[in-house]
Amino acid sequence: MDCNRCGNEAVMHAAYSGAHLCAEHFCASVEKRVRRRVRRDDLVPKDATPENPQTWVVGLSGGKDSVVLTQVLHETFHEDPRIELIGLTIHEGIEGYRDKSLEACVDLAEDLGIRHEVVSYEDEFGVRMDDVVEDDPENMAACAYCGVFRRDALSRYAEELDADLLLTGHNLDDEAQTAMMNFLEGDVEQIAKHFDASLGPLSEREIQEEFVPRAKPLRDVPEKEVALYAHLRDLPAHITECPHSSEAYRGEIQRLLYGLEENHPGTRHSIVAGYEELASIVADEYAGDDGADLRECVECGSTTTRTVCRKCSLLESLA
Ligand code: SF4
Repeated sequence: MDCNRCGNEAVMHAAYSGAHLCAEHFCASVEKRVRRRVRRDDLVPKDATPENPQTWVVGLSGGKDSVVLTQVLHETFHEDPRIELIGLTIHEGIEGYRDKSLEACVDLAEDLGIRHEVVSYEDEFGVRMDDVVEDDPENMAACAYCGVFRRDALSRYAEELDADLLLTGHNLDDEAQTAMMNFLEGDVEQIAKHFDASLGPLSEREIQEEFVPRAKPLRDVPEKEVALYAHLRDLPAHITECPHSSEAYRGEIQRLLYGLEENHPGTRHSIVAGYEELASIVADEYAGDDGADLRECVECGSTTTRTVCRKCSLLESLA
């Protein structure tokens, strides 16, 4: 098939839009979607100036999503003195997995000339995920521990780096899965929190001042297109499955969505669009409820709703 725009050989066909695109027009369309999302989510505030620049910390794992996001943001803003990008990599302590992707992060940061920081669970919390999986004192899936530690490390370092925004490389498939999981769990308050935490225009979200706001500008791009972009641009992405990956429920939802998308192209887009609209309405309903009982963890001082935060109680049982 030929590219709809120039007649050159197409490298991809998007069934949800009917587009056939050559490499050049496909890459341009990915970049356009990310930039449009940055605009729609109001990520660059009006008071950002060269004298008052914004620090954007990108969670850079070395996988295709975070590498593509960092590359596109760099190309968009590297000549804009209002925005400084910093890559932040979390090393979980997973033998043969994170070391390789860390190399990809270092290569990318060097290529782009951006500041890059690495934080390890071992240095921060005195644990490695390989050992956590062995001990497993709470009888939980590996990702349940890892998610708590990662959220804590990302938030803490985003604060330490004086970040105005913490950006992550969630793609359309990730967001459609999360939306479905939240719907199926029936937890409406969780949907409201999701909106305030990382969806929608910054100006419309109720963001607690204790937390650095988050954003996901890659969330209009399907996973396969992110992978194709990384391949066509020859980006140093590391594509390997984590040996401790244990999100069985998410995997089930993922398979369900693959089937739906195959038979009904555009399903992921409509799930995410509808979810965000609903989440915005629900967030308005819950406005003012959040944060009433926020306090400092007595162990580490981080902001939490408990006396001892979840990360500290996990570390206590691991000890
Ligand atoms: Fe951590 Fe799970 Fe991701 Fe592996 S798959 S890095 S255990 S969250």
